[in-house]
Amino acid sequence: MPSAPPPRRSLTVLSGGVGGARFLQGLLHGIATGRLPGVAADAEVTVVANTADDLWIHGLKVCPDLDTVMYTLGEGIDVERGWGRREETWSIREELAAYAVEPTWFGLGDRDVATHLVRTEMLDAGYSLSQVTEALCRRWRPGVRLLPMTDDRVETHVAVGDPDSPSGRRVVHFQEYWVRLGAAVPAEAVLVVGQEESRPAPGVVEAIADADLVLLPPSNPVVSVGTILGVPGIREALVATEAPVVGLSPIVAGHHVRGMAEQLLTAVGVPVSAAGVAAHYGPRAAGGVLDGWLVDDADAGLVADVEAGGVRCRAVPLMMTDRDATAAMAAAAVALAREVGAGRPT
Ligand code: GDP
Ligand code: CA
Repeated sequence: MPSAPPPRRSLTVLSGGVGGARFLQGLLHGIATGRLPGVAADAEVTVVANTADDLWIHGLKVCPDLDTVMYTLGEGIDVERGWGRREETWSIREELAAYAVEPTWFGLGDRDVATHLVRTEMLDAGYSLSQVTEALCRRWRPGVRLLPMTDDRVETHVAVGDPDSPSGRRVVHFQEYWVRLGAAVPAEAVLVVGQEESRPAPGVVEAIADADLVLLPPSNPVVSVGTILGVPGIREALVATEAPVVGLSPIVAGHHVRGMAEQLLTAVGVPVSAAGVAAHYGPRAAGGVLDGWLVDDADAGLVADVEAGGVRCRAVPLMMTDRDATAAMAAAAVALAREVGAGRPT
């Protein structure tokens, strides 16, 4: 009988905000309760978080996805909204509105502002975003090593149709597209400003290269995972790592579960389906980033398509309704990693 493989000790997850954070919560719950097959009870999780949503507003540097992961795993999140601080108050927003200071569409909560003040102060003093994130995590103790994808300024902008503009289009920051426009105007293109010149933050490439398992949570394939993969060196690290790479579909039955992935997948020409996203990421055997892909039970009919495209695929329940359901998703991802790991040349 072959001996059991050694337990996996280091897991790396590429995460956006709400979808990624919820998945991480379930993953940590699964590790803590010993429900992940072949994963050590003391396994360490490194999170590479998207920073292309970041913006400067009222002189403050705001990092929505880093903060969503940090607050969610640190039990500081507003659970209903899925972002921002719980027990938040909004005096600062009201006072700014009384001055009629623009922009009014991005509300900063009072508690949340403290995070942005600390971050901005540290950046002004010359610390990198990685160092700032580490410092903020000393308070929140998220139970993961949280790394920004890059310390450089990278911002997603979206070209939208605008009949009032001479060119017929206008380019807005991703946050303006999502928060002010509610992703309700047609997105024509996604531009990731500063990405080509950006470098992975310290530790990111190593976290992928040295991992025992890499997971892509059901985060937005365009403006979360897509922007992380677009930092030169990160996609290459995924293609090259000896660890299996398994992803979970954010698209269920042809729709996103929340957010605006449908609009943005359409803008970049990817079919809005669990199979479309798998093909977009591509099989590692052909220079893509996936060994395995989980689709929701509702998409069981797509499993054969995904496998025909060279990615091992299983259908399981993929709705993150609570920690137990999400831990079961993480367990299914780990089980799939075992299957593909066994079949991969090392
Ligand atoms: P954001 O930065 O806050 O937009 O969060 P992410 O990029 O990490 O995740 C957003 C994605 O999570 C969306 O495309 C959703 O479809 C997906 N998502 C949210 N909840 C669920 C869920 O319960 N199940 C699945 N499969 N996907 C989900
Ligand atoms: Ca985000």
